[in-house]
Amino acid sequence: MDPKLIIISLGAGVQSTTMALMAAHGEIGPMPDCAIFADTGDEPEAVYDHLKWLMSPNVLPFPVIVVSEGKLSAELLSGNDMARVPFFVGKGGLSARQCTRNFKIRPVRRQIRKCLGVAPRGYVAPGSVSQWIGISTDEVMRVKPSGARFIENRHPLIEKRMTRGDCLQWLLRNGYPRPPKSACVYCPYQSNAQWREKDPVSMAQAIAVDEALRTPENVVRFRGELYVHPSLKPLRDVDFSNAEDRGQLNLFNNECEGMCGV
Ligand code: SF4
Repeated sequence: MDPKLIIISLGAGVQSTTMALMAAHGEIGPMPDCAIFADTGDEPEAVYDHLKWLMSPNVLPFPVIVVSEGKLSAELLSGNDMARVPFFVGKGGLSARQCTRNFKIRPVRRQIRKCLGVAPRGYVAPGSVSQWIGISTDEVMRVKPSGARFIENRHPLIEKRMTRGDCLQWLLRNGYPRPPKSACVYCPYQSNAQWREKDPVSMAQAIAVDEALRTPENVVRFRGELYVHPSLKPLRDVDFSNAEDRGQLNLFNNECEGMCGV
């Protein structure tokens, strides 16, 4: 059956921006009803500026709806278990991740139900919604079903065999600005190259969160010593100018839903 609603899951990074603009150009169809941006409140300023531009008149022919569950870092530091971020644990491994589900997926789903005019627990027929996710071919391992029967995920960039580099070239060819890298400023999935490119304000915000993770009164709350960076060093002491990142993978590939960093 044809979907009743077509939405773009907008991360306001390179891939989802390209997907939205390609739809606007008629290069991906049918035209979406809207794009939904789930705001964690912790994106770099450049992402908010970019989002503002995307929402300005004559850029996209469909509305961009911003939804939010509040500021993720504030919820995390107040001890909200629903706001857990997969930080690196001093003894090894990653702590549990709740952030994507509760601050990205759920608010988007809630908005989808609102668009359909259906109550939070109301029945929606399977396949009613087509949700476009901005995963490119270089991150194909992130492709997953939506996890809700009424939402069918679609991956237009994979259908078009586009890499992230192809997206950047498409934007350049069409005279659009290069979108910033979207992700919470302290996201532990970032590679050292991404850390190195971070603007000073975002870096200071990330350092503040990193230090709070090991602040004595928070230690019980976090059940172990946590670090933002895989070196298990305080972020302010990590030397990003040397070769530490050789061979480091883009850890966003672990973030399977494709809701962050696109
Ligand atoms: S960008 Fe990182 S910290 Fe933010 S919601 Fe996604 S996985 Fe969590």
